[in-house]
Amino acid sequence: MIAIKKVTDGALQAQLDDAKNTNRESVYREGPVYAQIKEDFHGKCYLCEDDEATSINIEHFEPHKGNLEKKYDWENLFYSCGHCNNLKGDRFWPLLNCTNPNDQVWECIELRFIPFPKADVEIIAHPSDGKEEKCKNTVDLLRKTIGGKGTTRMKRDEANALRRKILRVYKDMAERIADSDEAGIKKSVADSAPFAGLQRWTLKNEHPDLFEKIFGTSD
Ligand SMILES: [Zn+2]
Repeated sequence: MIAIKKVTDGALQAQLDDAKNTNRESVYREGPVYAQIKEDFHGKCYLCEDDEATSINIEHFEPHKGNLEKKYDWENLFYSCGHCNNLKGDRFWPLLNCTNPNDQVWECIELRFIPFPKADVEIIAHPSDGKEEKCKNTVDLLRKTIGGKGTTRMKRDEANALRRKILRVYKDMAERIADSDEAGIKKSVADSAPFAGLQRWTLKNEHPDLFEKIFGTSD
């Protein structure tokens, strides 16, 4: 998970307000509202960071539970994959907000990829003061979505497929590191890259010198 900068655009909220009157959900599944959400989130699920999900959802970060203000609130609309949204439902709240820089989502959640023998991901909480509950809930959710822990056989199959994709990008970055391809490594950890949060943790833990070169000492 990485921080996302969502644009502030009154015109989009006005469109949402208009749709709210008739509860027209399609307003955020097409047209300018959808296009801007997709652009802001780099076309990636904000939870698992898959950029090639076959099922895309515009999901409500804070469950709206029928509240139309929350349902049509620009700030509450997030880009996610069907797999993650389906597991999240309204069961995990509060969560760390990747669009709020104060929540420091990347720093708070370490993703440690273990490629062999079966492409596993260890998810470790590093909560900052006052963020303990949000951090715990977010970690619990990611352990289900990415790890498949405590879910059904079907959701475990989906999580396994996700981790096989992660393995491929992990191998791509390993090759770039072996080739000392700095431009390529930067691409692997760019905001728009699939699984950028996990890749950054891999770089930080396994090649701290390279991490420092790209992100500087302040990160
Ligand atoms: Zn996802």
